[in-house]
Amino acid sequence: MTQSASDFQKDFQSQLEEKTPNEPEFHQAVEEVVGSIAGWYLDQTEMRKNAVLERCTEPDRVLQFRVAWEDDDQQIQVNRGWRIQFNQSMGPYKGGLRFAPTVSTSIFKFLGFEQTLKNSLTGLPMGGAKGGADFSPKDKSPQEIGRFCQAFMQELYRHIGPDTDVPAGDIGVGRREISILFGHYIKLTQKWTGALTGKGCHFGGSAGRTEATGYGCIYFLGHMLDQENKEIKDKRIAISGAGNVALHAARKAIELEGKVISLSDSSGTMHFADGMTNDLLDQVDDWKNNQRKSLSEFDGGKNADFLEDQNPWGLECDIALPCATQNELDEQDAKRLVENKVMMLCDGANMPLTAKAQEVFINANVPHAPGKASNAGGVAVSGLEQSQNAQRLSWDTENVDKRLREIMSKIHKDCIENSPDGKIINYRDGANLASFKRVAETMNAFWLS
Ligand code: GLU
Repeated sequence: MTQSASDFQKDFQSQLEEKTPNEPEFHQAVEEVVGSIAGWYLDQTEMRKNAVLERCTEPDRVLQFRVAWEDDDQQIQVNRGWRIQFNQSMGPYKGGLRFAPTVSTSIFKFLGFEQTLKNSLTGLPMGGAKGGADFSPKDKSPQEIGRFCQAFMQELYRHIGPDTDVPAGDIGVGRREISILFGHYIKLTQKWTGALTGKGCHFGGSAGRTEATGYGCIYFLGHMLDQENKEIKDKRIAISGAGNVALHAARKAIELEGKVISLSDSSGTMHFADGMTNDLLDQVDDWKNNQRKSLSEFDGGKNADFLEDQNPWGLECDIALPCATQNELDEQDAKRLVENKVMMLCDGANMPLTAKAQEVFINANVPHAPGKASNAGGVAVSGLEQSQNAQRLSWDTENVDKRLREIMSKIHKDCIENSPDGKIINYRDGANLASFKRVAETMNAFWLS
């Protein structure tokens, strides 16, 4: 008797959960992908024989290590560091480092799995990895962050390199941290190699890397709008987050005459009823990222009001860009957005929607682009940084931006070509199928690994 796709998915999921208990984020990410690819995979006799799906959902290796460092009171502190090298079949491992108190093996496994698929969508030769530490940079002095970065690299350096694994930034790890990590990497290895991306432009970084995730997200949104003969001009855009991705998405949206009505952080949402200006954006950037203060204390002028402890999803908007973190938008938020007639969503963060929230939008025929497609611009420009380092060249902003636009356009096309037939483009299934097929075909060709 032939098995149905949904039975196959259920069986696979229960086996996975039995094998890997207490990893809810990882289970959620795999369940979503298997839901999209099960129908196709059931027909792949050879792949099934070669256990390709089982191999694609098991990381190549999980590295976990101690990070001991000295705080400003000369106390030794101990944190936990991770690097999950998820899949190297498509190229050297590639993916960011996240410093946040709430991280776990489950979160890094989900991020490493997503990264593998995202990187395959870019079409560049990059495998997938993710790492970081349960270290909160928020309440630390610059000296403490510096000492922590060096202690972290003291272990990480032996596992990375331009042909093995190339980390970059993510939440809590920006250009400042990458510079310290890279400086220490050179010192430890006595080699200048492009073992990290997101570097400063005067020491091997790529033009446009800082902007790439946010700009890429808006380029992707542009294609989604085109698809429906709509344009970004005058649309009310609710954005969550106030980090690198949120701010650059806002910057590009304003340039294209969209009306950015919010930014947020863990203290709440700053609502700009009349839309943000570039000036205001500069001020928020300085406030959040240089002064490292909370949005609740930010003076946004007379057109801004602060919604304490609230996310932006209760605001009336045409477009929602979740750019903060995983599972930040749940079923209730999704229903509210649909009631308020949201037109489309485009993720800047990785897996910001819960599975139930995604279902709400699919059932309401509201297009939603998942992070692995719409936020791939960041890692794509990291890939271009690797190419420039290998060539010992640096390209100008125009050249990088042109390539970024081409990559986002190609990803959009891939999503459409792999979306199941229906009233709207199902970007979730399209992105999952397009990316998984590539990794699966490679793993199958490798036979055993
Ligand atoms: N952390 C980013 C992401 O989630 C960028 C990773 C990279 O540039 O390697 O894709």
